[in-house]
Amino acid sequence: MTHICFNVLNRQYQKYEKEYDEAALKVLHSGWYVLGKQVEAFESGFSDYVGTNYCVGLNSGLDALILAIRALDIGAGDEVIVPANTYIATVLGITENHAVPVFVEPDEYYNIDVNKIEEKITSRTKAILAVHLYGQACNMTAVMEIAKKYQLYVIEDCAQAHGATWNGKKVGSFGDVGCFSFFPTKNLGAFGDGGAITTNNAHIAETVQKLRNYGSAIKYHHEIEGVNSRLDEMQAALLAVKLRHLDELTAERVSIAMRYCNEIKNPLVKLPLCRESASHVFHLFVVRVRARERFRDYLKQRGIDTQIHYPIPPHKSKCYEQYAWSKVKLPLTEQASDEIVSLPLYNGMTDDEISYVIQAINEFE
Ligand SMILES: *Cc1c(COP(=O)(O)O)cnc(C)c1O
Repeated sequence: MTHICFNVLNRQYQKYEKEYDEAALKVLHSGWYVLGKQVEAFESGFSDYVGTNYCVGLNSGLDALILAIRALDIGAGDEVIVPANTYIATVLGITENHAVPVFVEPDEYYNIDVNKIEEKITSRTKAILAVHLYGQACNMTAVMEIAKKYQLYVIEDCAQAHGATWNGKKVGSFGDVGCFSFFPTKNLGAFGDGGAITTNNAHIAETVQKLRNYGSAIKYHHEIEGVNSRLDEMQAALLAVKLRHLDELTAERVSIAMRYCNEIKNPLVKLPLCRESASHVFHLFVVRVRARERFRDYLKQRGIDTQIHYPIPPHKSKCYEQYAWSKVKLPLTEQASDEIVSLPLYNGMTDDEISYVIQAINEFE
């Protein structure tokens, strides 16, 4: 029986196998494995790609969020405005710094509803943390205008949106700092954990450089309380290979998404909306179905795996139940979390596999 996995990561390895193998062997033979020439080269390539002056390689996307917020000196008593429908890591970036997340409901693109930000601003608000969820850029024109009006920092969570643009400009280059994840399933995925921040601000870049390496710029001189969040040479070298091919990998994702958008014709399945000013790099293809569990079971029987991003919104997570702010009512977010479902979409997915998914969905009643 046909089995369509949600993701098949080795297909994109196989596509550029020779280049990855060469890059990996070069690192193995080099005798230098953490923070070195490969990391510097990747950082410079990625900042060029995003369009910022600096990039600092880190251990993960979560660390990028935590250290970006720390570098902005946001901490206890401060509030950060954040979309309610996001991955828990976005919110952990705030709560790890003892700041308070203030949730905003999504718009019809599953991104922060910019018309609902201003009502949440108080004298304690320090930043807006925008998430380019599923790979589609948020309305950054509006976010930047509000931030300017109230003198707030802007942090972008770009973990799902490498290369996505708003009015032609790449995400991660709008705000004070952009946070990226290179977890293997992400659009620019490593072969292990990795992350980075991008910024035009030299002070933020230098602070995160220190924070990632025990708070020191000079070995054994610890100026600030840091952590260990270094990117290793192997991941950097492999990421540099993938970065060279990122635009074609994105184009492949978009073409799969376009087939889904054009060929899925089932009134029970609501397709994602794209807006003109934003490009969508389709980290995830998220549809909405009222009878979601029945839909997922049906697809499972047809051999098709699906996932939910995410079944429990962060404010409803058990880890936050002791906080008063977790009791907030967010009906749109909660309803979405009951109806959304992500379809298989990955680099190397074959035309036959895509057709199989489309046909099965069109036959769902
Ligand atoms: C994956 C992800 C992160 C965290 O990245 P890790 O590298 O897994 O720590 C943060 N935010 C969003 C929106 C993500 O999808």
